[in-house]
Amino acid sequence: MGFRTDQIHAGVEPDPTTGAIITPIYQSTTFVQESVDGYMEKGFSYTRAGNPTVAAFERRMAALEGGVAATAYGSGMAATVSVMMALLNAGDHAIVSDVVYGGTHRFAAQVLSRFGVEFSFVDTSRPEVVEAAMRAETKLVFTETPANPTLKLTDLAAISEIASSAGVVHAVDNTFLSPYYQRPIELGADVVVHATTKYLDGHNATLGGAVVAADPALDERFRFIMKSMGLIMSPQVAWLTLQGTKTLSERMDRQSANAMAVATFLESHPKVERVGYPGLASFPQHDLAQRQASGFGAMAWFEVVGGVQAGKDLMGAVELWSLAENLGSVESLITHPVTMTHGDMPRDARLAAGITDGLVRLSVGMEDVEDLIEDLDKALASI
Ligand SMILES: *Cc1c(COP(=O)(O)O)cnc(C)c1O
Repeated sequence: MGFRTDQIHAGVEPDPTTGAIITPIYQSTTFVQESVDGYMEKGFSYTRAGNPTVAAFERRMAALEGGVAATAYGSGMAATVSVMMALLNAGDHAIVSDVVYGGTHRFAAQVLSRFGVEFSFVDTSRPEVVEAAMRAETKLVFTETPANPTLKLTDLAAISEIASSAGVVHAVDNTFLSPYYQRPIELGADVVVHATTKYLDGHNATLGGAVVAADPALDERFRFIMKSMGLIMSPQVAWLTLQGTKTLSERMDRQSANAMAVATFLESHPKVERVGYPGLASFPQHDLAQRQASGFGAMAWFEVVGGVQAGKDLMGAVELWSLAENLGSVESLITHPVTMTHGDMPRDARLAAGITDGLVRLSVGMEDVEDLIEDLDKALASI
């Protein structure tokens, strides 16, 4: 089936008892067993280990990413935690993209490293750097592309090949493009991680995560951590995210078209120094973006002339754009990383990661693009 069919139908059958067309919210902690001999005959025992609504969402995620199975979590971070806890033991080593979601860096560097796991944060946009960072103890390569917030890209086929020839699992955080635009398993990756909080939900309504595995043995290891650590997604969130996925392609196409228009407008604005959007010909990795994904997504950034103060002033001047962390929803959001998400980062490290003083991050939504552009134009004129 095609993607648009799968995003609506995959994983879901009419409810066997009532015919309800959408899977109900099975809001129940436990499931009564027929007999000791028939234990788990219907597939469920206790909701921390599995739930019918969550299972429907897991089947849909596996179908959309082209994996064999999936597990669903209470947040995107819980999904990342599950992958790292399942695959890394004391004494092991993992390679992680140097530009990566802040929570991923924090969990690796400040939590898991306390338990004897070593991490190398390297520039995964350069395959030779990943190859050089490989050790005998390396068990996981964890990449994110496009990466937050600079949108640096990693060549997924090249990194998958390096990882698989060393017998190492390659996990990809695919949150920014969603399976509609990018399917890492088709490019050779073993595991896909999502913050379903973002495009899969799409409405700023829920926190959730998913891990899709290309191999059933890997999925079993993630499911074991999910139930051992109590990381599972709630039935209500699974239900709502199942509805969100039905319009994923339409939202992403509209939001990406809006992002392209906004980025093009900003590129010619005198108060803008630089614009970063993978769809622009000026984007340094524009070719790779075209090669490994079928769309450019709806995240963009620009550098406003005037540094920290101009960035701060702009946050106060926009009206339609909401000043808010998060991304991927139908509402357009704007952030100034230096005074918001990356305020604690030392300036040198921040600049080295490409997060300059006047950097403004945009999550482009689904509003009329003329309104989005007019609001930015007015705000830029006022600072
Ligand atoms: C938001 C995000 C996460 C974490 O998801 P939460 O649901 O906030 O825990 C992980 N990776 C990326 C790329 C994200 O954008």
